[in-house]
Amino acid sequence: MLTRDFLKLAGLSIAQRIIPPALLNLWAQAADAQAKGRKVILVTFGGGVRTEETFSPAGLRNIPRLAALRPEGYFYQNCVNEGVLSHFNSTGSIVTGNWQRVDDFGFEAPASATIFEQYRKARKAGPLDAWVIATNKSFAAMGASSQRGFGLPLGANVVLPKQLLLDAVNDIVRKPQASDVADRDAVHRRLETILQEGYEGVGWTIFKGGRQMDQHVRQTLTRALGSFINGPEAPTSGDELTFFITREVMREFSPSLLLVNFWDMDVAHWGSYSLYLQAVTRTDRLTGMLWDEVNENSKYKDNTTVLILPELGRDGDSNTANGFLNHRSGDPSCRNTWLLALGAGVTKGATETPIRHIDVAATAAAMLKFKPEGMVGVPVREILV
Ligand SMILES: [Zn+2]
Repeated sequence: MLTRDFLKLAGLSIAQRIIPPALLNLWAQAADAQAKGRKVILVTFGGGVRTEETFSPAGLRNIPRLAALRPEGYFYQNCVNEGVLSHFNSTGSIVTGNWQRVDDFGFEAPASATIFEQYRKARKAGPLDAWVIATNKSFAAMGASSQRGFGLPLGANVVLPKQLLLDAVNDIVRKPQASDVADRDAVHRRLETILQEGYEGVGWTIFKGGRQMDQHVRQTLTRALGSFINGPEAPTSGDELTFFITREVMREFSPSLLLVNFWDMDVAHWGSYSLYLQAVTRTDRLTGMLWDEVNENSKYKDNTTVLILPELGRDGDSNTANGFLNHRSGDPSCRNTWLLALGAGVTKGATETPIRHIDVAATAAAMLKFKPEGMVGVPVREILV
């Protein structure tokens, strides 16, 4: 069974391989102290979704959980992406506080220091205190930048659950004795949707991006996923798998800073409006479950701020019929998204005054009580108490 045991193993091996054992205790103490402090979870309600299908009067029916949560938090009606409208650069801009313009398929790291590196450097936080869990397979480089003075040693742990899942399935297929042919076929069929996602033709060539993950950790995760996919909680989409891994990381490591990247909604590129709407509603449900976990987990309850936003919208229908297919026009439907802040330090309210995606990392830094270096974004005052 996946869950606690394997992540416990994984956590130990991450720590032991990255840091000398003598420092483990010191970091454990620091982690304990920080566990009682403020935590921030960034959720990209991701893959590209328009306000039309979410927080417009007609869209609310697609997002029942967020619609119900909105009055409990602070809602920014206009959170603007002024940068490059690709998934990697849009998300990179959110986590760095600077507009990113790097290779769109994640072969290049963000050019400016991420909030993870900034946090770990400024607060001397250990390697288990910042994580990225991403459905988008091209996000392997999202945890650390190429900026001088920062980089991988200060980066977040990056987990690409779908990559691990594929390895797990391949493992099963490679071992005929592990199960009979019918079983293996059944596993493949069940997981086909998750494994074949590649809406923009990114495909599986990105896998070498998994270089950041320690081989031993990777094998441990892969083995555990092999048993998990036959279990009762087996996911039916990449985002469900991402939620599951996120919840386990929260329970085992209680990181203070976490990016959860959902991506299922990008299925819209395939041209099915109903699949897109289904993905919107699934993302809403998973985000709601994440919020439930925050409130049921004693390490997170009452000290955690959750910032939820789409990394980009999708094209409007005015210029192209079926604008929902893509996100490249740069029209307001594509750039003007929203942000919902929930939890610690957040007063109830709403505003139409625009904020920018690059303000998110600066705001998170202020919540985590450190001054970031070189961010163009500025903290938004309404949710800083
Ligand atoms: Zn896309």
